[in-house]
Amino acid sequence: MELQDQALGILKQQLGRTVCETKNELQQVSHDGLKIQGSLSAYIKVEKAEQVGEVLSLADQYEIPITTRGAGSSLTGAATPIYGGWVLDLSALNRFEIDEENQLVRCQPGVVVSDLQKEVGKLGLFYPPDPSSKDFCTIGGNVACNAGGLRCVKYGVTRDYVLALSGYLANGKKVRWGRGTRKFATGYNLRDLWIGSEGTLGVVTEATLRLVGKPADRITFLAAFEEDAKALSAPLLLSRMGIKPSILEYMDKWTINCLQEYVEEEVFDGIEPRPVLLIELDGSVSEISEQSCHLVQWLKESALDYRVAENEKDAEELWEVRRQGSSSMKQLASTKLNEDVVVPLNRQIELVEFVEGLRRDSSLKIGVFGHCGDGNLHVNFMYDEDDLEETSRAVDALSQLMSKVISLDGAISGEHGIGLAKTPFVREQFNDAELGVMKAIKSTLDPKGILNPGKIFDIFKPWEQTKLKVDLPWEKSHQKIKPS
Ligand SMILES: Cc1cc2nc3c(=O)[nH]c(=O)nc-3n(C[C@H](O)[C@H](O)[C@H](O)COP(=O)(O)OP(=O)(O)OC[C@H]3O[C@@H](n4cnc5c(N)ncnc54)[C@H](O)[C@@H]3O)c2cc1C
Repeated sequence: MELQDQALGILKQQLGRTVCETKNELQQVSHDGLKIQGSLSAYIKVEKAEQVGEVLSLADQYEIPITTRGAGSSLTGAATPIYGGWVLDLSALNRFEIDEENQLVRCQPGVVVSDLQKEVGKLGLFYPPDPSSKDFCTIGGNVACNAGGLRCVKYGVTRDYVLALSGYLANGKKVRWGRGTRKFATGYNLRDLWIGSEGTLGVVTEATLRLVGKPADRITFLAAFEEDAKALSAPLLLSRMGIKPSILEYMDKWTINCLQEYVEEEVFDGIEPRPVLLIELDGSVSEISEQSCHLVQWLKESALDYRVAENEKDAEELWEVRRQGSSSMKQLASTKLNEDVVVPLNRQIELVEFVEGLRRDSSLKIGVFGHCGDGNLHVNFMYDEDDLEETSRAVDALSQLMSKVISLDGAISGEHGIGLAKTPFVREQFNDAELGVMKAIKSTLDPKGILNPGKIFDIFKPWEQTKLKVDLPWEKSHQKIKPS
């Protein structure tokens, strides 16, 4: 402890007011969206990228755990300082520079995704990765988690847009992986190794991101189907029909029922809760018109009913249905475990049927919605953490889900990452040889285990912890889901 105090003293001398120590300040960054509290002795609100190097050199010398943080919107505990030490808050590094000629942008890590999207949009450019948290999550967090989102079905995930990363190794040395070029086949690809490494292999202080041309137009559809098999045939069927949706989102009938009770409105008048798809097409006016023609034909043949939004306002109303699915579930129990499993496109029906069985056998509230265009479905388990018997049923159901996903040749996380929450299942996903290689990489890049310790490899059971009863800034109440 004496050494830690000594290190903190030096840190304050070097960085002055950027080092925060009051109880209130520390509390704010002691947890993320998982709401499990960690501990920390200081948090550094970084003002210049070079300060990251200074902090890491000191942490390396005194072996202080460092947890890097963007907005803290991770749902897995990835940004929680579970082993104490210091939190490196990069949210104030939020400048970016657009290179219009080369169609790329150089971004500091604290840039909020939707801020970037708005600015590049003004130049007719587009940064497609758009997690639902885009209004508050940061580019650094997105790179560290390889964030996905709604438009991945057409445009790909964060990784597909990262050309280069600059940042610092655990020992405080500066590195730059990749360049602002469209191709890079020069040496080991450490850039891609950092992407998705959840802050365990290095700290990103600049990302060079590829941009594309902004689609001229878009059109949004919401459709209800008699059964899951029909709705979930869409990803492969639409592709065979030459339709490339920019968004293809699914909600199961249990989720629709839950949402209707919550907002006290029907999604489709006179239709009892049924599986729903939210579909968006984007592109040039002629592309959209041709593709919507085929899509409408399919919806007329296959859907029970559908609605179309041709302007932003109407589209927003259809979007609310998707957004409120998640909010409505939160009202049902004190705890919601949000899994983000991914399976091959043709195994989604099997997965959803399996969840139906789980719901029946475990008598738990379990809702499924998500990015069916990518096979990436959110399975949400609601339970009361004060009820030990119900908690035990939820944990058992969760374990069964993870085993099923792995047996379907899927993965336990498609976009949120492992953090703390999924560590109990990592050993089932990987064999000893695979895990051994990952640990060897970690110990080569971070031999003292300074960066984000406790994540990915150590087993942590979130259901054994009491969650904080706090409302995070983005947790807001519902609006109406249909035109009034
Ligand atoms: C309502 C809601 C909706 C969401 N929807 C989606 C979704 O659609 N798709 C999706 O993928 N995720 C989603 N998420 C999860 C979350 O927003 C993402 O994981 C996001 O990428 C986290 O960004 P952040 O800035 O909040 O990072 P944080 O939560 O602060 O950190 C996340 C991880 O990144 C590391 N990290 C952060 N910055 C850096 C850096 N500069 N260098 C190195 N490591 C760093 C942290 O150490 C931590 O491991 C959602 C979350 C919420 C609350």
